[in-house]
Amino acid sequence: MSPSKLKLFRLLGITFQIDLTWMLVFALMAFSLAAQFSKEHPDWSVTHYWIVGIVTCLLFFVSIIFHELAHCLVARAAGLPIQSITLFILGGVSHIGKEAQRPGIEFLVSAAGPLASTVISAFFAVVHMATRSNLGTVTAVAGWLAEINLVLVLFNLIPAFPLDGGRILRSALWGVTGDFSKATRVASAVGRTTSVLFFLEESYSSLRASLPMVYGQD
Ligand SMILES: [Zn+2]
Repeated sequence: MSPSKLKLFRLLGITFQIDLTWMLVFALMAFSLAAQFSKEHPDWSVTHYWIVGIVTCLLFFVSIIFHELAHCLVARAAGLPIQSITLFILGGVSHIGKEAQRPGIEFLVSAAGPLASTVISAFFAVVHMATRSNLGTVTAVAGWLAEINLVLVLFNLIPAFPLDGGRILRSALWGVTGDFSKATRVASAVGRTTSVLFFLEESYSSLRASLPMVYGQD
């Protein structure tokens, strides 16, 4: 284990660890959540919105652990060796000791994470709806977690290898062509193109925002 990683615990034969970059994300996210809640709920005390911010942030990382755990458990059921789950600056990553030997297995392992996040998002959406009449702490926390888990699903389904969507695409190409290296090359190329398109779209939007006099406002 590298010195930048902190081992948390071992469960179901999997080591759960956090990368030290994650601490920074946790602090920033808890702060921004506390700020958001203080704006949306001016009746809450300072202690109240800070505690809710920290607890929401913890629940978000538990959601990420569930997403990674889904990948790991399906991989293990398919006979792949599982080593660890690490939380880092961009979310979570599962360390699986071996690539899937068949496209169907790669598909199931890759799809398990987004599916788990969809279930978690739906669960929090139901809690949010069920408690909406009293607009309390639970309503606010559940609403935010339903949204963020949905964002996690959509982000992971972008067909940019090595995101889950890119792996799903590779498994499909692999299944169709029967050629693993070709499928990897094509999925990686699609991934690079997608990233470039996202980057161009972002740059274009910020350029437009900074030049309203040139393009006009819409
Ligand atoms: Zn995933």
